[in-house]
Amino acid sequence: ASIIELSRVTKTYGQTDGSRPNGLPALSDVSLRIGKGEFALLMGPSGAGKSTLLKLILAMEQPDRGTIRVAGRDVHRLTKGSIPYLRRNLGAVFQDFKLLPEATPLENVRLTLQVLGLRGRDVLSRAKESLERVGLDPNSRKPVRCLSGGEQQRVALARALANRPPVLLADEPTGNLDPALTLDILRQLELIRAAGTTILLATHDPLVFRHAPASRILHLEMGRLIEDRVVDRAPNFT
Ligand code: ADP
Ligand code: ADP
Repeated sequence: ASIIELSRVTKTYGQTDGSRPNGLPALSDVSLRIGKGEFALLMGPSGAGKSTLLKLILAMEQPDRGTIRVAGRDVHRLTKGSIPYLRRNLGAVFQDFKLLPEATPLENVRLTLQVLGLRGRDVLSRAKESLERVGLDPNSRKPVRCLSGGEQQRVALARALANRPPVLLADEPTGNLDPALTLDILRQLELIRAAGTTILLATHDPLVFRHAPASRILHLEMGRLIEDRVVDRAPNFT
């Protein structure tokens, strides 16, 4: 069964600012399915529509046409339960981390779990466990802004996964990292996938393309899905 399913999705941004120079939509008639436990790599040059695709899945943008299902449920049919449902099912990390810079790693993760409504006594243990899982010291008192870029992205990963969502969406998570830290984050992602989490990773970085242990390659160009291919890549971080 597929855990993410897009069916004939088209998205155009506001006409004056948003459409491409040639008037094409940001995404045109995109259909795809990602199965449970897959590591899908979403490739394509800057402007191809990768972020738009992830934002549509997160319900941060609405499609003009088509449907998007997460774990079988249409995420754009507005019901009261939609947003909590999405938050339970999806974790997300971004190029710019989106962390609270003055707070410690532990505070960053705890706050998110509190917002998600996790019971008080579970919050601390879950937050610590999640930081340990990505190789960080949960008791560090350093504010996040004092950490390296690679460490900050690990905090963002810990935060995205603390709620144990079945799916992780990652939008250029290594965009601000050097090659060594990029491979380090790919190693983390492989561990996360090996533990059963489905991953959709968007990037235009050839280094990520070469090394990501992907099970599927999706390729966007000018808003169109021009390639969708199953691959079988062993992890290769050397
Ligand atoms: P990618 O993530 O592959 O770089 P995006 O999804 O960010 O691509 O962008 C796809 C197209 O949509 C681009 O032409 C971009 O300029 C346009 N676009 C993206 N976000 C917006 C927005 N908020 N408003 C208007 N146009 C946008
Ligand atoms: P805003 O600050 O504009 O309200 P949010 O960060 O709350 O934006 O996100 C907007 C939408 O994106 C929400 O509807 C939410 O469902 C979705 N979203 C954002 N981040 C996540 C996440 N980590 N997990 C699940 N859904 C998310």
